[in-house]
Amino acid sequence: MLTTLKRIVQEVNQAPNLDEALTCLASRLRDALKVDSCSLYLANYEQQHFLLVATEGLAKEAIGQVSIGFSEGLIGFIGQREEPINLSNAPAHPRFKYYPEVQEDLFHAFLGTPIIHQRKVLGVLTLQQRKKRKFSQNEEAFLVTLAAQIAVQIANAQARGSVHLLEQNVPKDWQKSLRGVPGSSGLAQGTGYVINMLVNIRNQVPTRSKDAAQQVLLYRNAVKKTRADVAVLSERIQGEVPEDVRAIFQLYHHLLDANSLGREVEQKINAGWDACSSLKMVVESYVGQFQSMTDNYMRERAVDVEDMGNRVLANILNQDLSRGLKREYPDKAILIAEEVTAAMLAEFPSENLVGIISMRGSTNSHAAIMARAMGVPAVMGLSSVPFSLLNDKEILLDGYTGDVIVSPSLTIRHEFALLIKEEQVLSERIRSQDTLPAVTTDNCSMSLLTNTGLSLETEKNDHPYSDGVGLFRTEIPFMMRERFPSEQEQAKLYRSLLLIQPSKPFTMRTLDVGGDKPLPYFPINEENPFLGWRGIRLTLDHPEIFLVQVRAMLRASFDLDNLHIMLPMITSVNEVKEAKRLINQAFFEVSEEAVQQESSLVMPKIGVMLEVPAVIYQLPQFAKHVDFFSVGSNDLTQYLLAVDRNNARVADLYDSYHPAILAALYQIVQQAKHLDVPITVCGELAGEPGGAVLLLAMGYRKLSMNNHNLLKVKWVIRNVSQKEAEKLLQRVLVLDNPKEVRSQINVYLETIGLGGLVRAGL
Ligand code: PEP
Ligand code: MG
Repeated sequence: MLTTLKRIVQEVNQAPNLDEALTCLASRLRDALKVDSCSLYLANYEQQHFLLVATEGLAKEAIGQVSIGFSEGLIGFIGQREEPINLSNAPAHPRFKYYPEVQEDLFHAFLGTPIIHQRKVLGVLTLQQRKKRKFSQNEEAFLVTLAAQIAVQIANAQARGSVHLLEQNVPKDWQKSLRGVPGSSGLAQGTGYVINMLVNIRNQVPTRSKDAAQQVLLYRNAVKKTRADVAVLSERIQGEVPEDVRAIFQLYHHLLDANSLGREVEQKINAGWDACSSLKMVVESYVGQFQSMTDNYMRERAVDVEDMGNRVLANILNQDLSRGLKREYPDKAILIAEEVTAAMLAEFPSENLVGIISMRGSTNSHAAIMARAMGVPAVMGLSSVPFSLLNDKEILLDGYTGDVIVSPSLTIRHEFALLIKEEQVLSERIRSQDTLPAVTTDNCSMSLLTNTGLSLETEKNDHPYSDGVGLFRTEIPFMMRERFPSEQEQAKLYRSLLLIQPSKPFTMRTLDVGGDKPLPYFPINEENPFLGWRGIRLTLDHPEIFLVQVRAMLRASFDLDNLHIMLPMITSVNEVKEAKRLINQAFFEVSEEAVQQESSLVMPKIGVMLEVPAVIYQLPQFAKHVDFFSVGSNDLTQYLLAVDRNNARVADLYDSYHPAILAALYQIVQQAKHLDVPITVCGELAGEPGGAVLLLAMGYRKLSMNNHNLLKVKWVIRNVSQKEAEKLLQRVLVLDNPKEVRSQINVYLETIGLGGLVRAGL
C-alpha cells in the first residue's frame, strides 16, 4: 500500500500544473484501487460550491460544469462534516442528490473524503463502484492519507494562483493574492527583486510554447553546450578526485544522450511545452525515481541529476549558473529571498529598499526583527511560491496582515497608494513628538531604551530619543565575518558604541548564536536548533570565545561606566555562576591592563535574560547573583507555548498576547519588584503599541525596542493613562485566547485614536 501511495503522490507531484495533477490522480487512484470511478471536486468559497475538476468514471463533459452547493448532496455533506463517508448504497442516503450531467446512475457504493489543509476544506475526493458494498477500512485509510498529502499541493497551487479551476470567466492576467505572515508593519509598493535568483529547475513555472521547432533547437544547443562544459570540468579534475566522482560525469553524459533524457524532453516540447518546462518535468521525474531507489548510492545520484538539469537550464537561459541573475536594482525594490539575512540587507542599497519578502521564517524570526529595526515593511513565510512568479513583478505588500498582491489591478493600486500617503502623514505626526518624554496622561513615567545590533544601519546612528541601549545583540559582527572576530576588533567596535552616549546605560548581550542565527564558519547541525546548543550553552562550552568577548567589552569600557553585560538563554543558576566566574577572571586580567594605562575600570552590572520558562520559578535564587533582569518575550513566548518562532506553519499559534504569556509576564514583574531587582522587557512585545500598554499596566517601567517602534510607543504612552491601561489589562487577563486579547487591545487603541498604529491607514 505504502509503495502505491508513494508512487501516486510522486507522479502527481510531477505534473506540470494542478489540472493535470488532479486528472492524473483520478486515473491512478481508480486503477490502483480497482474501482469504477474516482472524482475530485474543488471548493470555491466565493461561489460557495464544489466544482467537479477531474474524474475517471463519471462523464468527462461534466468537468468544469457541475457545481454542487456547499450545503447540497453528499459532496456538500462531506465538506460540512469534515470527515469521510462510506456508503454501500449512496442513492439511499437522505443527503444524496442526483446530478444528471455526471451520469452516476449506475453507481451504488460511495466513499468520499474531504481534502483539508490547515483546517480549511479545499475539496472532496470520491470513489464509486457499481455494486453495493462497503469500502474496506484499508481503502478508507488509503484515501484519507492520499487526500492529506494532496492537500498541500492544492494549497500551494492555489497560493501561486495557478489553479485554473476550469472556470470560464477568470481573466487571464488576473492579480494574484498571496498570504504570508506579518513580519514588519507598514505598506509597500514596489518591484519584486529576487536576491541570488539561482538558475534552478525548481523555480521554473511550466509554460506553454507554440513554436516547438524553435524550442527543440534551443534545447539541443543547450545540451551541446552542457556536454562541452562537463567535458571541461571532467578534464580539470582528472587525477584529483576518486574514480567514483568521475563516474558521475559519465552519468551526465549518459543522461544528456539524445536517446535517454533528450528524447523525453523533446516529446514534451512537441506536446506544447517550452524547452525549460519540458526539461523541468523530465528532470524532476528522474530525480523522483532516483530518490525512491532502495540503493543508497543510487538514491544520492538524484542530486547529480538535478545539478545536470540546472546546467542545461542555465544554458537554455544563457545565464551563469554559479552567479545567479544579477540585475539593476529597481528604484523601489521589494527584496525577496529564501531567507533574508543581515548580510543581504547590508549589501542592498537602502535608498532602493521599500519592502521585504522572506520565503522562510515567521513573525519573530531574526529576519523579521531586522526588518522592523530598519522600519521596512515585511512579509514572512511565503514558502510555497516560486520566485519566478514574484521577480520583476509589481508587488503590493501589507506588513500588518501579511498580504502580498502580485500584478495588482488599477483600483487596488490606487487604494494602496492612498493608504501609503496616510501612513506617511501618521509617521510625521509621530516624529513631531520625538523629543518629548514618555509620560502617560496621568503622569506615569516610562523609560524607553533601544534594541540595536541586528540592523547595521542603526549602529551608525545615535539614539537621541531613548534612555540608553537595553539590548545590543552582538551576533551580527560575528556573522558578517569568515572567522570569529579578534578581541581587538571586538573591543574597537564596542568602544565606539559605548562612546555614543556615555552617560546612558548600554547593555551588551554576550553571543547568542544558534537557533536561527548560525555562524557561517561554525556550523551547528541539530534536529532542534532552538532547543539545542544556543546562547550561553554554547559560549560556556567554549570559554575561549566567551572570555575573548567579555575582555573586549571590558577593555572597551575603560574610563566609562555605562557598560552592562547580559547573559542569554539562561536556564539554571549554575550557568550564571559559571559565567560570572569567567567574567571575574576577565575583569582581573583586564584590570592589570587598565592600571598600566592609568585608566579606570568599573565592574559592569550583570544581568540575565528571562526567556526560558524555568527561570520564572527560580527568580529569588537568580536575584542573589544578578543586578538586573531583562525579559526576552520572543523566546519566552516560543518556549512557554512550545511554538517554533521561525516556523510559518505554526505562526498562528505563536502569539505573545496569549493569556498565559501575559500571566507569566505579570507574575515576573511582581516578583522582580518584590525582590527589588530592576527589570526591563526587551522582546518585540515591548515595541508593539498594544504590548507596551499592557506592560505599562502590569508595572514594567523600562521597555527596550528598536528605534522605529520607540517613537510609536512613546506616542502611545503619551496618549494613554495608566489607570485606563490597568482596566484594559484586567479585562484581557481573563479572556480565553490571544485573538480576543488582540481584538480588545485594537478596539481600545481605535477608541483613543491610535488605530493607525496597528493597521493600514490613519
Ligand atoms: C528575546 O528572545 O525576546 C530576545 C530579545 O532575544 P532574541 O530575539 O535575540 O532571541
Ligand atoms: Mg532570545
